[in-house]
Amino acid sequence: MKSALSVATPTGDPAVAETVTAVIADIRERGDAAVREYSEKFDKWTPESFKLSDTQIEEIVAQVPQAVVDDIKTVQQNVRVFAQHQRDSLADFEVETTPGVHLGQRNLPVSAAGAYAPGGRYPLVASAHMTTVTAKVAGVPHITACTPPIRGEIPAATVAAFHLAGADDIYLLGGVQAVAAMALGTGTIRKVDMLAGPGNAFVAEAKRQLFGEVGIDLFAGPTEVLVVADSNADPFIVAVDLLSQAEHGPDSPAVLITDSEALARATLAHIDAILPDMPTRDFAGPAWRDHGQIIVVEDIEAAYALADTFASEHVQILTDTPRRALDVMNNYGALFLGEKTCVSYGDKVIGTNHTLPTRGAARYTGGLWVGKYLKTVTYQEVTSDAASAELGELCGRAARVEFFEGHARSGDVRAAKYAGAPLTW
Ligand code: NAD
Repeated sequence: MKSALSVATPTGDPAVAETVTAVIADIRERGDAAVREYSEKFDKWTPESFKLSDTQIEEIVAQVPQAVVDDIKTVQQNVRVFAQHQRDSLADFEVETTPGVHLGQRNLPVSAAGAYAPGGRYPLVASAHMTTVTAKVAGVPHITACTPPIRGEIPAATVAAFHLAGADDIYLLGGVQAVAAMALGTGTIRKVDMLAGPGNAFVAEAKRQLFGEVGIDLFAGPTEVLVVADSNADPFIVAVDLLSQAEHGPDSPAVLITDSEALARATLAHIDAILPDMPTRDFAGPAWRDHGQIIVVEDIEAAYALADTFASEHVQILTDTPRRALDVMNNYGALFLGEKTCVSYGDKVIGTNHTLPTRGAARYTGGLWVGKYLKTVTYQEVTSDAASAELGELCGRAARVEFFEGHARSGDVRAAKYAGAPLTW
């Protein structure tokens, strides 16, 4: 059996962190000029303008076969429907907690969002749906979209997806230079309030370093899959599902946890048979070799429990009772229950968001969703003299426990005024 899953934090590779720090500092200092230099250096890409004009967008979209455009529209509708349900679940409210004391909560969209669709290896068209459609449903008024050229080529379908989803500005720009330009703003690229979208280790690290200056969705780095399977699972399906995620990149972990040694061995045999013929074996092969793992445990309950400790981005459940995972698991980006669905459905078409936490971040966050584009803010109003006077007295006492005399007096003056007493400092 294979072992040794390497688990890294978003800053796991110091060389990546160092590169990212230097690029961000330079873009902060020199803006557009630095963006151009890094695009040249990392992507060999220096068009006259990184921003696509309306005419360019029209021409690019026209190159995309109609069937692909139709599929993009179908998938975006799936993402939109689910995102709209999420939005509808977030009701604003106002409550009168005691007579005359009104407390309220609102969910307000950020003013400008940045959407990143990766494109170093593959044109991740689906990331354009996940970021832009979701931001639109949240009500974000301005969306800046970035995606890199792929080996010097314009990723036409990704541009079409951004455009159809309603992105306002589309830039052909990738990696740290795209993330930093959107987060910091440059002479030509508008500064955003919130950045979302998956990416490689450089993209994830750039988001981590810029968090605070800009809001981010989450650390959606190199993709991961974990399969929980019992003896009745089809080992061919298990092997296919592991390798289909490993193809994301050589740093993508793929893990099987099972209570059946027979299934483990059969899966391994299928992997060995499939890998050499996989068109994407150059990514899937190293990923499986360096980050693949098969673990055999005592029983299926132990499998769920162990899987939970991984806090994996994607967890595929191929057991007799897949919904059991809903009861016993707590740490995952998304669950895929039973053989009739799979991680690829989530990645590409089904409508749940594919921008999901990696490297253990599922312990504390879920994936990208409408709520990430919203600020949950509160307000308050006191409409009764008696309530304000009572709160003023309480505030005076509470603030003095903390030696906040100024705060205390804000309470004192209201306690006095609304109880009809003279005001003094
Ligand atoms: P990418 O767009 O994330 O990265 C490409 C960019 O990386 C390039 O534009 C380049 O500027 C930069 N870059 C490459 N080498 C560099 C170097 N040595 N120094 C500085 N910058 C460099 O595309 P990708 O590389 O194909 O990666 C996509 C990633 O997204 C994969 O790791 C995949 O697993 C991940 N992903 C994650 C999720 C999720 O939700 N977690 C979803 C989909 C994809």
